[in-house]
Amino acid sequence: MPVFEYKCKNCGHITEFLEKADFHGEHICSNCRGQVMEKLLSTFSARISGSSSLTSSDSCPTGTCPLS
Ligand SMILES: [Zn+2]
Repeated sequence: MPVFEYKCKNCGHITEFLEKADFHGEHICSNCRGQVMEKLLSTFSARISGSSSLTSSDSCPTGTCPLS
């Protein structure tokens, strides 16, 4: 189950929630109990989008890969 980070719009505290992708329940700030939470992009997806690994996934960068 993935971890999503939500930032409280009331106090700015970031709380992590373990949840399914189709979860639509409430998120409550662990600091101030506020219920207005803004979903943050996970560090995982941010790292993927900024990487060049996707463009080189179907070709060998060094020419020595046995599967290429
Ligand atoms: Zn809060």
